[in-house]
Amino acid sequence: MLDVAPKGAYDHGDTDSAATPATGGVDRAGTNDLARLAELVRGAGSVVALTGAGISVPSGIPDFRSPGGGLWETVDPMRVAHIDAFRSDPVRFWSFYGERFATLGAKQPNGAHRALVAMEATGMLEAVITQNIDMLHRKAGARDPIEVHGSIASCRCPRCAGSVPLAQVRMRLQGDPDGVPRCEGCRGPLKPEVVLFGELLPERALARARELCEGADLLLCIGSSLEVHPVAGLPLLTHAAGGTVAIITQGPTPLEELAGVRLRGDVVDELQALAGALGLG
Ligand code: ZN
Repeated sequence: MLDVAPKGAYDHGDTDSAATPATGGVDRAGTNDLARLAELVRGAGSVVALTGAGISVPSGIPDFRSPGGGLWETVDPMRVAHIDAFRSDPVRFWSFYGERFATLGAKQPNGAHRALVAMEATGMLEAVITQNIDMLHRKAGARDPIEVHGSIASCRCPRCAGSVPLAQVRMRLQGDPDGVPRCEGCRGPLKPEVVLFGELLPERALARARELCEGADLLLCIGSSLEVHPVAGLPLLTHAAGGTVAIITQGPTPLEELAGVRLRGDVVDELQALAGALGLG
């Protein structure tokens, strides 16, 4: 019924039936969903992954949108990680953000990141687009992931525009009496090359993400609540262009009706099972 179709040839017609277990013969354990997803990956000309906070949770990075968000429970991210907070009180901003840099910098990728790298290495995955700033896709060996919210890899001086790598930022942070990493040129506070609240997403990264999603036969949405725009709109591009959207995340998303495949298990288990089904185990 689901034959291996060339690029752009998927036609799932009635999306409601695709998402309804009764018509798909899907068992509760999701085994058939997984087999079907593996089949879609094999048949697709272009597979793209879109990842969110959920893929980093097994690496010990809490999702601030979920309860038990650790660091984020004691502070309001909308206030401390806001561009206005950086501009008005960089010392306070860095007293929070410096801790975040230190915490994130020590985290390691998990089996879900590695499964995507294995897929990419064999040509089954074209690219990874991520909302995460934690660099875990890079650390796992992903080839040039598209970090639409930036990353902690570097900071930039808003005035001089020079980019400073993470290791340097850490040294300057520790060496500054106020705990603020500063520009060597103008002594002004460096800004993380992370998209803060109140800032626009980097246009080039977003344009590339849009292009990839439009051209994807299969978009794997992994560990994202798909609620934060404009990233949340990316699966709509894939769907509108005739591609299949697979949602692999435990929590609910606003795009359930769009999902051609829906997996709800632990993200590491699901992706390792997918890699196994693809012969990459
Ligand atoms: Zn400067």
